[in-house]
Amino acid sequence: MLAGLGILVLALTGCGRSQPELVFSGPTMGTTYQVKVVPGPAGCPPDLDHRIATLLQSLDAAMSTYKPDSELNRLNRQPVGEPFAVSADLLRLLMLSKQAFQLTRGAFDPTLGPLVDLWGFGPVDTGDRVPSEGELKEALESIGLDYLAIDEGASSVLKRRYIEVDLSGIVPGYAADRVSELLDSLGLKNYLVDLGGELRASGQNGKGKVWQIGIEVPSVDRSEVERVLALRDVGVATSGDYRNFFERDGVHYSHIIDPASGRPVSNGVASATVITPTAAEADALSTGFMVLGKDSGLKIADERGIALLLLVKEGAGFVEYSSAAFAPYLSERAE
Ligand code: AMP
Ligand code: MG
Repeated sequence: MLAGLGILVLALTGCGRSQPELVFSGPTMGTTYQVKVVPGPAGCPPDLDHRIATLLQSLDAAMSTYKPDSELNRLNRQPVGEPFAVSADLLRLLMLSKQAFQLTRGAFDPTLGPLVDLWGFGPVDTGDRVPSEGELKEALESIGLDYLAIDEGASSVLKRRYIEVDLSGIVPGYAADRVSELLDSLGLKNYLVDLGGELRASGQNGKGKVWQIGIEVPSVDRSEVERVLALRDVGVATSGDYRNFFERDGVHYSHIIDPASGRPVSNGVASATVITPTAAEADALSTGFMVLGKDSGLKIADERGIALLLLVKEGAGFVEYSSAAFAPYLSERAE
């Protein structure tokens, strides 16, 4: 599971003089996490490091498509028409996915699992092979989140036809939200959670200033800051086509798949950054907006009041496009 890596936590948010920032970090979900916490007067529990690591391990164990016995893979093996009891986390993830699926008119669709596998972006390495038309057509027949009925009251789901769920486009953001919930429950109010570039910010940094992050210029080998954003109590995620891809015969194949065609997106959008109240929403929507492309993406974002920033390839460079709700983030400078 690879998260979008378009976001840099800027060094300028580092240890402040007024109050130290505690940093907890480690590998998770095929990427890394970093949690910065400014302890309040009551301090941090001594085992906070362990509690964060354990929470992330259990989410990864349940939601990974790479682990044969994960809860998600058990759902994927569940026969059609038989109810499957889901954990509270999987229920929330599927309901959030359905909202993102509806908002993006099917562009974010976590039932793309068979296509993700076919293009070699899943657990099995296919050696950068381009699938045949026949293979794509067959895989497209088992795509569509509408084929998953969710019974919230009974905490169960039922597949109406054969589908495979891949939550890689939302789990890192959701995991950042879960860490945020853990910190809130401990009375911690000032923190920045970064899970593979999907972020959840709360309160202020150690210098008593609003947290700041940088949005990268899309590039395979460079990390240049395009924009500095000040974040107050929000989730932010970036999805891009430039870090996880392969090239065959001069064609660039990205890991973001268009559910309409079954093919990697090629609409010129190099990255999509979304700011919403939670990181899970931002994560799913940033993947969906990559698929929707510039015109439909901006239209939907404006209709729904969503903060969206797109970097679009034009000529030799990139041009920025943003929804109205993103404007305050572009004009504001924290320091
Ligand atoms: P992200 O990096 O958050 O944009 O998520 C990308 C991952 O989500 C890919 O590696 C796939 O596993 C999966 N994915 C690809 N295309 C889509 C899509 N259109 N909707 C939902 N998930 C997708
Ligand atoms: Mg995403």
